[in-house]
Amino acid sequence: MTAHKVLFLVLDGISDRPCAELGGLTPLQAARTPVLDRFAAEGICGIMDTIAPGIRPGSDTAHLSLLGYPPEQYYTGRGPLEAEGTGIHMESGMIGFRCNFATVGPDGRIIDRRAGRIHTTAPLVEAVAKGVDLSRHGVSFRLEPGAGHRAALALSGEGLGACVSSNDPKTEGAEPLPVRPLTDDEADARTAEVCNDFIRQSSRLLFDHPLNRERISQGLPPANIILIRGAGRMGRLEPFSERYGLSGSVISAATLITGIGMAVGLQHVPVEGATGSADTNLAAKVEAATHELARREFVLMNIKGADEAGHDGRAEDKRDFIEVIDAAIEPLGEIEDCLLVICADHTTPCSIRDHSADPVPVVIRGDGVRVDRIRQFDEIACAEGGLCRIRGVDLMPIILDLINKTHKYGA
Ligand code: ZN
Ligand code: ZN
Repeated sequence: MTAHKVLFLVLDGISDRPCAELGGLTPLQAARTPVLDRFAAEGICGIMDTIAPGIRPGSDTAHLSLLGYPPEQYYTGRGPLEAEGTGIHMESGMIGFRCNFATVGPDGRIIDRRAGRIHTTAPLVEAVAKGVDLSRHGVSFRLEPGAGHRAALALSGEGLGACVSSNDPKTEGAEPLPVRPLTDDEADARTAEVCNDFIRQSSRLLFDHPLNRERISQGLPPANIILIRGAGRMGRLEPFSERYGLSGSVISAATLITGIGMAVGLQHVPVEGATGSADTNLAAKVEAATHELARREFVLMNIKGADEAGHDGRAEDKRDFIEVIDAAIEPLGEIEDCLLVICADHTTPCSIRDHSADPVPVVIRGDGVRVDRIRQFDEIACAEGGLCRIRGVDLMPIILDLINKTHKYGA
């Protein structure tokens, strides 16, 4: 018997290196994880270089690789993927940016790069969308509000390049920078000119916007400038359904991951209370995944909180959140006719507070899958498992074979 459906659970940054606070164990080793350990005992385990040995993956490049789209071929920067995840449908060739609403003081210097962590920017975005005109450049744009002070911008038009700098000085007390082309290419110079015009026109509108006047009267920093960064050109990603013959959904609180899923044609399933932090509503995510698998063949689910603890260097919190994840995912073992694939997208060691290239543990469990001798889901135990050491791009072919969706090579 073989399963026909796939639940692909990415525990973002869950793997680690030995932590002194945990007696030399990794948080995943130190955590009590009866559910993950049971899945490991019932399936086949291994370790995985999500991109390649020694390459430190970003979450975006790692997820592309895990979905079988080699990032060296498909990755075009964070901006277009964030824009897609924020709700702008990015056509191939469009230039995407991540944005922050920020505050410029009367002397022209940035006072607050997040505009006092403003909650809603929808009225500001609407004013910019209506009032800014880039038609003299032959360019149209979409600006879409994201969570809090975040937003995304996309430009479409002929002859636009994607190699331009950011206007974000990255530090408060400095003036916003002009956007500059990063090459001698005419197209990049054109994009820089369009960006600077967009920033000029939008700042003028935002400066006087009623919402900002109200914020000033309440003693709050006005959101009077848009900082743009992460420029990239949207590439052509073959839809997941055509590449693999599987219909699918993506469940993630992180717009970057949602954007990658949507860019390959996975349906985004919003979940109430999913925050991308340790306070996220895991039960609702697990329920949404179960619900999706009743009507689709593939669900990509990302759970983010452990990565955050790694970036903050909080080993004990990381261990504790892993235990919360473990308890929450128990119902996933009950989904019928389903291959359960669990891994991390990269290692986020508390000791370095960033991603590292250490391989991550992976388990595949379901009908027809060989069962190896591994009884624990962690970085060390899985290294002795039957999958041995694979790369991220190997995972989809292995999954497709296990659900009988692959073709014989040769006679
Ligand atoms: Zn990640
Ligand atoms: Zn991270």
